[in-house]
This record gives sequence, C-alpha cells and structure tokens, in this order.
Amino acid sequence: MEKIKINKEACIGCGLCVHNLNNYLEFDEMGQAEPLDKEINPNDKKEILETIEHCPTDAITVEEIKEA
Ligand code: SF4
Repeated sequence: MEKIKINKEACIGCGLCVHNLNNYLEFDEMGQAEPLDKEINPNDKKEILETIEHCPTDAITVEEIKEA
C-alpha cells in the first residue's frame, strides 16, 4: 500500500496540499503539513500526483509501505 510522506525539512507550510488533500493531510502544531497515516485510494492518485507537482518545495512524496 502507499501513503503520503512529508519532508518537514522542506515544507514551508504554504497550505496548498492540506487544502487540496484534506482527507490525507492536516497542519501540525508548527503549521506544516502532516500526513493522516491513511492508505492512498487509487481513485485519489491523480489528484495527489498533481499536488505533489505543485508543492513549491517538493516536500511531498508517496511512500510504498510493505505489508507484513
Ligand atoms: S504544498 Fe508543500 S510546502 Fe506547501 S504545505 Fe504542502 S508540503 Fe508544505
């Protein structure tokens, strides 16, 4: 399965991804994007990839999680 990952070193808290993907991301206490630890629904993949492209600091990635 796949999950969204945020590079906190890079995220500037612009809010774009939290706004676009509010089922997957929220703001943390520092005002940066924080993943909601949710498996990516294939139907949402296109929107997620578009948001990844538009992140100004390339802080968003999709991570493959190996199932146990
Ligand atoms: S779009 Fe990028 S910089 Fe903006 S809040 Fe999301 S991860 Fe951070």
